[in-house]
Amino acid sequence: MTEKDKRFPLNLSSVVDKPKAQRAGAPARVVATPQTATQNAARNVNLAPPRPAVSTTERISPRKEAIAVTTPARPAALVSDAVRSAMVARVAKQGVRDARVLAALESVPRHLFIEPALSSQAYIDASLPIGHHQTISQPYIVARMIEVMRANGNGGTLDRVLEIGTGCGYQAAVLSLVAREVYSIERIKPLHELAKTNLRPLRIPNIRLHYGDGMLGLPQAAPFDGIILAAAGLEVPQALLEQLSIGGRLVAPVGERRQVLQLIERTGKFEWTRTTLEDCHFVPLRSGVVA
Ligand code: SAH
Repeated sequence: MTEKDKRFPLNLSSVVDKPKAQRAGAPARVVATPQTATQNAARNVNLAPPRPAVSTTERISPRKEAIAVTTPARPAALVSDAVRSAMVARVAKQGVRDARVLAALESVPRHLFIEPALSSQAYIDASLPIGHHQTISQPYIVARMIEVMRANGNGGTLDRVLEIGTGCGYQAAVLSLVAREVYSIERIKPLHELAKTNLRPLRIPNIRLHYGDGMLGLPQAAPFDGIILAAAGLEVPQALLEQLSIGGRLVAPVGERRQVLQLIERTGKFEWTRTTLEDCHFVPLRSGVVA
């Protein structure tokens, strides 16, 4: 892995104010989708000219804003704020209360993380294929995991967070709006590249993407105030528990066919507590890397 691969300071995003989510939305419609290989939507985006990279340790101003993107030529209905607001309203109806998380969800253009053929389904509450037998997570579970991670003893302040399983980069983009620094690891090289391509036009300065085995964590960047696993293992790897800061929260799906969302809090140097939250369904956590 080159230094360039390890550090991924994306360019600065410009931001605009957005209204709060509307609370009127139709119930989520879950659509079964084929696990076809996908191309990312952002490939069709006219990328904005590159700007000089900025320090990724820079503090980002309050995150009520939306990420402005160079809007691709797409049917207006697909990119409409109203469609995304309706998705956020459904997520709120399903029980996510954290306004900061809902605002972040409102800000990230999910359709840009999905291949054009599936764009019309970008704002339904379902996981969708992103290729390599992997999926973009369902918006509800993305929001729920971040909400749980934010409910710390620190008023929701998150300095460094780690995501295991970048996939197409969607959750990393949402996380970038609630944490000062986001590290995200992906074990499948083409997906790591896909996430880079998807995130580049969004110019998010505080995300660093890594290609590697997330089960090992990222000791060189630890400790983390929050760790989110986007893939389910039979147990949470010990390395990740050790990379949590004291008071830090890890949220992970655990299990095989039946999976539950678990919250693990580090309460001391050698002490962790575990809480089981709800049933969930994720792709499996696997060791090693795929080139
Ligand atoms: N975070 C994504 C979800 C991607 S699906 C989103 O925003 O929607 C989960 C991802 O976890 C897959 O891309 C899979 O390849 C990855 N994964 C599984 N085991 C992993 C591991 N040990 N290290 C890093 N990534 C892993």
